[in-house]
Amino acid sequence: MIVARVAKKFKFDGAHFLPHYPGKCKDMHGHTWYLEIEVRGPVKEKGPYQGMVVDFSEMRKWVEPELNAYDHKVLNDVLLNPTAENIAAYMYKSIVDWNCNKYLGEGVDLISVTVWESPDSFAKVTAEDQDFVSVMPVLRVLEEDEAPPDYPKVDEGLNMEAEREAHFNV
Ligand SMILES: [Zn+2]
Repeated sequence: MIVARVAKKFKFDGAHFLPHYPGKCKDMHGHTWYLEIEVRGPVKEKGPYQGMVVDFSEMRKWVEPELNAYDHKVLNDVLLNPTAENIAAYMYKSIVDWNCNKYLGEGVDLISVTVWESPDSFAKVTAEDQDFVSVMPVLRVLEEDEAPPDYPKVDEGLNMEAEREAHFNV
């Protein structure tokens, strides 16, 4: 059996500002961001998708809710402190929590989520970073009916941010 990794990139436009940053990025500005998701799984041996891990054209579905939440938005309305790292971590968590079971086929795993804020600068969160992701603050402001029942509330999220800061000495 052949195992392969496949990835797909998606574009979104969003403004942000970094309230803690002591430089130009403290002020509102915009980027064309790219989101890349990478999965790993067995290459199918039969059926209409034989020779493929997943159908590239299906991959957009996996990130559609996230792209809709971010595209043409002020990202600070969606996340606290929306750095590329925080966006990547939160997208990773969203995709794992909400979309993976629905869309990833048998034996296919989400390996990484990469967010570029410019053509030469990206942040990547991988499956090995799950401990990191699990202590990420809850950043997204969710609609009441959008929140899964076990999702921490924003206040808990802020505590988790403190936890993360203590853990990583940032
Ligand atoms: Zn920026």
